[in-house]
Order: sequence, then C-alpha cells, then structure tokens
Amino acid sequence: MDSIDKLKNIFADFPTVGQRTAGRFVFYLMRQPKNQIDELVNTILELKNKIKFCSFCFNPFEGQDNLCSICKDTTRNKNLLCIVKKESDLFTIENTKKYKGLYFILQGNLLSIKNSDNLNLQTEALRQRILHPENFLTSRGLSEVWSEIIIATNPTPEGISTSVLIERAIKEINKDNSIKITHLARGIPVGGELEYADEETLESAFEGRK
Ligand SMILES: [Zn+2]
Repeated sequence: MDSIDKLKNIFADFPTVGQRTAGRFVFYLMRQPKNQIDELVNTILELKNKIKFCSFCFNPFEGQDNLCSICKDTTRNKNLLCIVKKESDLFTIENTKKYKGLYFILQGNLLSIKNSDNLNLQTEALRQRILHPENFLTSRGLSEVWSEIIIATNPTPEGISTSVLIERAIKEINKDNSIKITHLARGIPVGGELEYADEETLESAFEGRK
C-alpha cells in the first residue's frame, strides 16, 4: 500500500471522517512545508505521551496528579455522579455550566479493548467507584454519600440498553434505595447523541431529569 492510501485509511477511521474527507486531509498535508508536518507529528506524540486518564472518572488530562481538575475541585458537589459514554459528552455537559457534580466516563476504561460491548469491565469499575469513592478521591470524606446518580447515556438503542445494564448494576449495590437514580429528561431527539444536542436542549434535559 502506498503512503497516500495508508494515511487515507488512517484518517478514514477518525470519528465522522469518511473516505472523501480523509482524501482531502492527505492532499492538504502533501502541500504543507516540512516544518509544519514535523510540528503535527510532534504534537500528536506529545498528546500520547502527556495525556493520562483520571483514576476516578477516566477524564483525559495533562498533569502530575492522578485526578483530573474536575475530581480535584473542592467546590464540586461530591454527592452527585453523572455517568456518560465518552469524554466529549462530559465536555458538552460541562459547557452548559448547569452541573456541578462528578462524572464517570464509561468508555474511559475501554481504550485498549476493541469490543466496546464489553460492559462488565465498565460496570465493575463503576461499582468500585460508587462503593469505595474514598479509594480514588482523596478529597472525599468517608462521611459523604452519593445522593444522586444521573445516567446520561445517549437516547440511541445502544445508549438505552447500556443505561438498563448500568441501572441494574447500581441497583444491586443500592438495595436500600439511598441513592436516587435519574435519567436525562426527554428533549434530546430519540436516536440523537448528547454531543450534538444544542446547549439549551441539554440544559433542560438536565434540569428535568427524573
Ligand atoms: Zn476525574
């Protein structure tokens, strides 16, 4: 395979990038001066070398600690947990500025696993964090308890079945119903993804959660 096709295939694997756009990227890169290509390559390597994943929520971040800035933030409500599919959903929710609790990214611990249907690992990591948050979050006191867990998966068939499985796993450790389990209110179009919902819709889906 020549380098054009090779690179085109790499780009075509990117989210939302099809063959045609992948081809455009390759032709664009061909015309760039060597120093720009070096910079691009180095930046990608830097990303890979510097970014790590938060030991509590799996949010990617750059820094010396084990926890991301959200998990380290002492002003955040540590009794609230919002479960999202991927980091871009976390960013979308953060942008609304309506939520001040913690997160858990489901796919954060599945980066090295090809089969994204493997929910067992995800739910086990989640259960550990719900049961023993003090093992991960240094700033969370033992006296603090979860008051609400928001399942914010996409209203797609896949997101809905994930939500059912997650809820089942949480219920096993929430036998006394001390934790309120909520879902985002309707408003995000069925089949749609959080990432593409406009801010107002997401805000009202968050406020109307039940
Ligand atoms: Zn975190």
